[in-house]
This record gives sequence, structure tokens and C-alpha cells, in this order.
Amino acid sequence: MRPIMVAGNWKMNGLSADAVHLTQAILHAEMEPMRPEVVIFPPFTLLHAVSQEAKSSALRWGGQNLFWEASGAYTGEISGAMLRDMGCRYVLIGHSERRQIFAESDAQVAQKVKVALLSGLTPVVCVGETEAERAQGATEAVIHRQVEAVLPLLNLETSQPNMIIAYEPIWAIGTGLSASPEQAQAVHAFIRGLVAAYSTQLAKRLLLLYGGSVKGNNAAALFGQTDIDGGLVGGASLQVGEFIQICRAAELAGRGG
Ligand code: PEP
Repeated sequence: MRPIMVAGNWKMNGLSADAVHLTQAILHAEMEPMRPEVVIFPPFTLLHAVSQEAKSSALRWGGQNLFWEASGAYTGEISGAMLRDMGCRYVLIGHSERRQIFAESDAQVAQKVKVALLSGLTPVVCVGETEAERAQGATEAVIHRQVEAVLPLLNLETSQPNMIIAYEPIWAIGTGLSASPEQAQAVHAFIRGLVAAYSTQLAKRLLLLYGGSVKGNNAAALFGQTDIDGGLVGGASLQVGEFIQICRAAELAGRGG
């Protein structure tokens, strides 16, 4: 049985005091360790504060991005080793805001995934279609293209997945308009099928998160779907009560780590 995960993407929000407050609130919610696995993605400037609060707990944290070179003259960028140095285990790669606002291509996403793996980080690779693409019936084609770009980097020698894929329809991010559980399940099943063409064992074990307006009141229905292994949560991860409600829904989805 696959574990279930709830990941909170804080995006470009928060100062030190917020990081301490939010992290402590999650820790005080006393979820059974690793059920679900809870990971937070604060801005780089807050990684240290989060790590200080969470270092002896089951809570995990990660970076929202990284650069594909190890070091050098890349002003403003962050390397995988720097994230590891902050105690990160995970890194978000190819979030739609990075693909759209910063024009990250599939090839760049793949380069970042490669360097994240070499750095010992687990990439959470985000994929998703726009509203127009869905309206044109191009959802599967877009997801296929984005997933195919990183599939060669999957750990094919073992049946242990080395990455997580988050399906985040762009029309659902920050809009309050979540995909229905059925819509999300259909795309998750499609992604698992793409991976199964490489390895059925890996496909069975691969964690697939759904992201896009996950809230306390829709999380249970989403997490109840066969191929949805948790959520990547943006706005609601900054609201303690909502985020904990989402984590509780994941706990109740009844999967052990
Ligand atoms: C996100 O940014 O990854 C996200 C899913 O945002 P929201 O939950 O606010 O839609």
C-alpha cells in the first residue's frame, strides 16, 4: 500500500515569525508519525527557522525550486547541496508558476530533476494543463509531454520510486475551483499508466499528489480516490486550521506509511 502525503507550498509568503508559528502549529497537531507524511515548502529564507523547529520531529521540509548547476556564477540561484545543507529532503520542480512566469521548459525541469536526484533530494515534479488546453481536449497530451520529460530519470533498477509527481491543473490553482475527485482520478490513473509502461512495480509504488484548491472540505473526497496519494496544498497551507483539517483527512484516508 502506498503511503499518503500532504505537502504545503507556502510560495512567496511569510517571515520568520510566521514560519515558527505555522511549524509549531503543525507539530502540535500531533499526527501519528508519518501518517500522513507531512512536508512543508517554505521560501528559502525560512528553511533555517523551519528546520530549527522541526528537526527532531517527523515533519519534513523542502525547497520550492533549485538550479541545475552545483555552484558558481549564478546570482540568485540555489543548489541541491544548499537545500540538503538546510536539512531538506524534498524539492518542488516545475511548479506551474515557474513554468508560466519564469518560462521553465520541460527540458529544464528534467535537468533540475536530474540534479535534485544527484543531490540526494526527492523531487516533487509538478505537471498540469491550462484551462484552454482542457477545453481543447488536450489534457492527456500535455500531461504526457510533461511526464515523458522526466520518466527516463525514474529509478528503473529498483522498484523504489525516486520522485513524486503532483498533478496540478493550472485552472484549479489558487482559484478555489478544485478539480472534481473524478477529474483528478482520471488524470492520476493516466499518469500511473504512463509510468507502468516503464515499470509496473514502480507505477504501483509511485506517489501521485493532487494540487489545486485543496481545502479542508474537499480533501477527503480527493484522497479517497484510488490513484490520489495525497495533496500539494498552496493557499490552505498558510491557514493552520485548514491545513490540519487536510492532514486529518489524509490520516483518515487510512493508509499507513
Ligand atoms: C499550489 O500552488 O501548488 C497550489 C496547489 O495552490 P492552491 O492550493 O492555492 O490552489
